[in-house]
Amino acid sequence: MSKRGQRPFRLSGAPELIYGCGVAGCSHLSSIHVTELPPPPLGCEECVKIGGRWVHLRMCHECGKIGCCDNSPNRHATAHFHEAGHPLIRSAEPGEEWSWCYVDEVAFLLEDTSAPGR
Ligand SMILES: [Zn+2]
Ligand SMILES: [Zn+2]
Ligand SMILES: [Zn+2]
Repeated sequence: MSKRGQRPFRLSGAPELIYGCGVAGCSHLSSIHVTELPPPPLGCEECVKIGGRWVHLRMCHECGKIGCCDNSPNRHATAHFHEAGHPLIRSAEPGEEWSWCYVDEVAFLLEDTSAPGR
């Protein structure tokens, strides 16, 4: 089992991040209902069911489902996009806050919606 750091999807170390809610090139932001990760321990729901393994975790912005990344054998996050048609996910890895749109293939950071006021 090698544990080399793998890249999330096709994002390299410096993905083209677009800040804020007016994300150019993505028209799916209105489908975002869940921005906060569920409390740990996190795990890919589908992998847990079948006893599979995952590399990185992603969370669906629309329904909050946790799935595994494209470096994982079962790619449940992508499978969820195809099954449910929910285009937006975010990283569920500690310290990673980027989001990704499968349809528009654009990475971005959401504004901190938990901040009070505004
Ligand atoms: Zn989009
Ligand atoms: Zn999985
Ligand atoms: Zn979903």
